[in-house]
Amino acid sequence: MATVDTTEWVRDFAALVDEHAEELTALDAAIGDADHGANMRRGMAAAVAALDDSAPATAAETAKRTAMVLIRTIGGASGPLFGTFFLRFAAAIDSGSDIGDFARAFRAGLEGVIARGKAEPGDKTMVDALGPAAAALDKAVAGGADAAAALAAAAAAADAGRDATTPLVARKGRASYLGERSAGHQDPGATSAALLVRAARSALR
Ligand code: ADP
Ligand code: MG
Ligand code: MG
Repeated sequence: MATVDTTEWVRDFAALVDEHAEELTALDAAIGDADHGANMRRGMAAAVAALDDSAPATAAETAKRTAMVLIRTIGGASGPLFGTFFLRFAAAIDSGSDIGDFARAFRAGLEGVIARGKAEPGDKTMVDALGPAAAALDKAVAGGADAAAALAAAAAAADAGRDATTPLVARKGRASYLGERSAGHQDPGATSAALLVRAARSALR
């Protein structure tokens, strides 16, 4: 049964982050401090290097190692938040052998981000991409969809959630300091979170 290979997921996410780093930084320049692309690129490059050092035996070990590297390497808000996502994902991924496992672990990751950052839906954060993705995954799995269809639905939901952050006024993170002036700009963290979901599609094995 096909599901997401966690190591490939981390690697594919790193490649997408690298490809989109300038865009992520430009988005952060508008409503933050212009470092989101550099933060994510540094963190994900270090995560890949840690996987290259020695191959983890399990999906949980891969996710946990990735979490530790992100928390250690990224100075900004996104380090502890993506780090917490992967840490909770690691704790929840069971055998990791089917898309139902992946969906449950993904939701646990989202809940970790919410517990840590206290963002609610509509606060113009990464939660606005991760939340719809988790809901789409759960719905697809409950409806008996296969892994490819479930991840396609999740990626579309994450992209729509990312796009929907543009008109929002930020209520969490650095962008919230701008108040109403944060409206009219796409959230950088929701943009990288949508890349995380997109990467899962190419990591199907
Ligand atoms: P920093 O703001 O410290 O420079 P980054 O630029 O790397 O960190 O990341 C900014 C992104 O982090 C934002 O676009 C937003 O999506 C996300 N973010 C910030 N604070 C929170 C929070 N409390 N909960 C969820 N996501 C958050
Ligand atoms: Mg920043
Ligand atoms: Mg910063």
